[in-house]
Amino acid sequence: MITSVFQQRDPDSPLAAWAGSDRIRGQVMPTLTIILKTGGCDWNRCRMCSYRHERYGNLDPGDLKSRLLAQVSWVRDHFRLEEVDAVKIYTSGSLFDPAEVPLQARESLAELVRGKLVIAETRPEFVIRDQVSSFISAIDDGTHDTPLYVAIGVETSNDRVREKCINKGFTWDEFRDAVTSARSAGAGVKAYLLAKPLFLTEREAIEDMILSLRDLAGLADMISLNPCTVQRNTELEYYWKQGAYRPPYLWSILTILAESPVHLTCDPLGGGQQRGPHNCGACDRPLVKGIRDYSLSADRGLLTELLATDCPCKEEWEFVLLEERSYCMPLTH
Ligand code: SF4
Ligand SMILES: [Zn+2]
Repeated sequence: MITSVFQQRDPDSPLAAWAGSDRIRGQVMPTLTIILKTGGCDWNRCRMCSYRHERYGNLDPGDLKSRLLAQVSWVRDHFRLEEVDAVKIYTSGSLFDPAEVPLQARESLAELVRGKLVIAETRPEFVIRDQVSSFISAIDDGTHDTPLYVAIGVETSNDRVREKCINKGFTWDEFRDAVTSARSAGAGVKAYLLAKPLFLTEREAIEDMILSLRDLAGLADMISLNPCTVQRNTELEYYWKQGAYRPPYLWSILTILAESPVHLTCDPLGGGQQRGPHNCGACDRPLVKGIRDYSLSADRGLLTELLATDCPCKEEWEFVLLEERSYCMPLTH
């Protein structure tokens, strides 16, 4: 639930920042979400990602540091930090990559969020024990048993899907190593899953998520399900424009949430729109709202009710699950 949003394009503001509430480790708490503009994701190649374009182009390290420090001051000036318990920091890349977020900026950010429960996005190769533990020392004032959760977009536990359909650039084993490093530094782990990347049928996408959840439960402390959306200037958009990709049905998302052995948070961005997870248009709005409500309440009864909603498009979805065939490359040229 979002209570206030700031989204500005002045050079000193983050890309976006908002106050709201989230369910974190079984508790609903007031949160601040910050999306920083940074030097940019080091990997910069995932097929569905347009966030990677939101970066400062070719700034020298000194200027980059100044821009990031200015964003931290902007957040300090525009939000009452004493009113939030948790802060989620997104960089569209890695907070712990010093080329993306210079060390001094990271330290200033740590000072700003000291005493909060912090969730910070990073790729696994930047989860380095010493870096993570010194960030924890800077934010920890004894309020939270686990003051930091590193948030990693592992997307799926299937290496083939992560490589071919997403081009994510790391393996499940590398993700597991990052989990080990994070834990040895005293951090928890939040994992993001991507429902229905390119090239998977609707049924394959559901199965991919269910298997991934089985692999992740017990490994990650929190899991968030991201239904895939078609962002601008992406390879995914190229296929979508040719009718070669459809975002997941909301029925599929509900099925994954219901089948999951653990509670998942899920904010279906673009829900009900052609570029986002959608059904037929007639039933989308209450289902999107229901998914957001479930994310906060963890009420499984609500999922059962939503899945029992009557709409003719459910038959269409069931037909798709039965009849859609896998993407196939020609064997010869
Ligand atoms: S999804 Fe994350 S890792 Fe992939 S290009 Fe975008 S920001 Fe980088
Ligand atoms: Zn419908």
